Amino acid sequence: MPLGEFELIAKYFTLPVRRAALGVGDDCALLRQSSGMQLAVSSDMLVEGRHFLSTVAPDALGHKALAVNLSDLAACGATPLAFTLALALPRADEDFLSGFARGLIELARAHDCELVGGDTTQGPLNICICVFGEVPIGQALLRSGARAGDRLYVSGTVGDARLALECFRDKVGLEGQDFSVVRRAMERPEPRVALGISLRGVATSAIDVSDGLLGDLGHVLRASSIGATVHADALPRSTVLAAQPLQVQRECTLAGGDDYELLFTAPLQRNAEVQAAARQAGLAVTCIGQIDAAPGLRLLDAHGQPIAQQFAGFDHFL
Ligand code: ADP
Ligand code: MG
Repeated sequence: MPLGEFELIAKYFTLPVRRAALGVGDDCALLRQSSGMQLAVSSDMLVEGRHFLSTVAPDALGHKALAVNLSDLAACGATPLAFTLALALPRADEDFLSGFARGLIELARAHDCELVGGDTTQGPLNICICVFGEVPIGQALLRSGARAGDRLYVSGTVGDARLALECFRDKVGLEGQDFSVVRRAMERPEPRVALGISLRGVATSAIDVSDGLLGDLGHVLRASSIGATVHADALPRSTVLAAQPLQVQRECTLAGGDDYELLFTAPLQRNAEVQAAARQAGLAVTCIGQIDAAPGLRLLDAHGQPIAQQFAGFDHFL
C-alpha cells in the first residue's frame, strides 16, 4: 500500500512534545515563551546535488539537515527549543523516510529540540528546516561584536569535510579508515551548541564555519568594521588532513566549508574563561590570530611571513 501524505506525517514526523504547548497536527504549533529570553530563529535549506550527494545515507541526511540549523543557534549562543521541517520528496519511499527520520530525531533528542510542525509535498528532494531557540535578552553572540585586540579562536578541527568532498570528486585518494574519518566529518557534523551557550558573556562575536573559514571571518570583519591577522598554518586539523601536501591543507582549512565549528573572538584577558567554556563543552578551541583596528585580512605562514594567495569562500551564485 502506498503511503499518503497524512499517513507519512503521522508515521514518521508526529512525536509527543513536552516543552511546546502544541506540536504537529493543527494549523500552527504553539511554543511557550520564557520571560527574560529572546527567541532565536534560523532556517537552512538542503538541496540534492547542491548541499548533499545522492549517495548519502538517509539517516546521515536527516542528521545533517538538523545539524546545520542547530549550528546557527550555536553561533548565537542560543539554547535549542523546537524546529519545523518542510520536505519535498520525489516519492513516499519508506526505506528513505525511516532512515531520514531516525537520523533527524536522534540528533533532535540529543539537543532536546522538538519537531513541532512542517510541510510535506511531492517534488525534487529538498529539505528546509526552521529552528527556534532562546537566549537571555541581550546575550546573543553576534557577528558585529569583535573589537581590536581580541583573540580569534576556532573550535575542534577544520578542513576534513572539504577533504572528503575532494575524495568523492576523485581529486584526492584516501585509504579505508582515513576516508571514514573525513566522510564522517562531512556527513555527520556535530553542532557546537554547548560551546555556544558556554561562550555567552565571554565571546565578543561568533559565527559558525559553513562556507569556509576565511569567507565566514570576512562576514565578522565587515559586521564589526575591523580587520584580522590569521596564522594560517596554526589552524587546527585532523592527522588525516595534516598528512596531505601543505597546499591541500591550506585550501581545506581556510576555504573548505561545511565544518560547522564556531569561529569567535574574545578579549585577551578572558582567555582562561574561553578555555573553561571549551572544557565544559568537551571541545578543544585554538587561538588562530587576532583582531586588528586596521581593516582587511592578513594571512601569515608558520614563519610569520605573509601568504599572498587568495582563498575564496563559498557563494552559491558565483
Ligand atoms: P496545512 O494544511 O495547515 O498546511 P498540513 O496539512 O500541511 O497543514 O500539515 C498538517 C500538520 O502536519 C500540520 O500541523 C503541519 O505542521 C504538520 N506537518 C506537515 N508536514 C510535516 C513534516 N514534514 N514534519 C512535521 N510536521 C509536518
Ligand atoms: Mg501545509
